[in-house]
Amino acid sequence: MFPAVSWRLLGLAAVAVSLSLELVYRFVRRRRPVREVLFFPAPLVCTEPLLSPGLSCSCPLPHDKDSALYQLVRRLLGARRSLELCIFTLSSPPLARAVLLLHSQGVRVRVITDSDYMAAAGSQIGSLRKAGVAVRHNQSSGFMHHKFAVVDNTIVITGSMNWTMQAIQTNQENLLITDDGVCVRAYREQFERLWKEYDPTTYCFFPEEDKKQT
Ligand SMILES: [Zn+2]
Repeated sequence: MFPAVSWRLLGLAAVAVSLSLELVYRFVRRRRPVREVLFFPAPLVCTEPLLSPGLSCSCPLPHDKDSALYQLVRRLLGARRSLELCIFTLSSPPLARAVLLLHSQGVRVRVITDSDYMAAAGSQIGSLRKAGVAVRHNQSSGFMHHKFAVVDNTIVITGSMNWTMQAIQTNQENLLITDDGVCVRAYREQFERLWKEYDPTTYCFFPEEDKKQT
């Protein structure tokens, strides 16, 4: 029989080993870089397994988890704390649903979009606003033409693709997904700069008249 002190030492050693393994696991996980490229057009696939977790779907659409659309939705839904979306035009129902789902789960969602295209037919910006998602838009004559997202301040999704079904199913488009620190920081800073610039409390509706008065 071991004396009580030895049992205690054994217990402490077991705790130390499990803590070390946990730290090694976290380190390895964190060190694995995210570097993905998605190309479109991609066939329309069912994203219900992601958007309605727990429900088994038997719709006629393909349920291909390797499809670029499925991978994009999966990446977005990986957000746990925040999603910053800077998108010229958003009319894709599954992508809008992903944003709404994150918002309903308490993820801090902020959207910057283009003032002309947010009112275009099929735009989902209105439904995001109705659900309480914070949306800001440009007020300049040039388009707010970015198409990028920042997930949890750690991953950037960027490329040529607008979030429209035409882009997804018809156009030649690309998306790069990376957790490269330098890139992520640059996109975060650009988002914050535009978010501040497009603050509605500082809108200037008649710039020429304002200039005359000053
Ligand atoms: Zn389905």
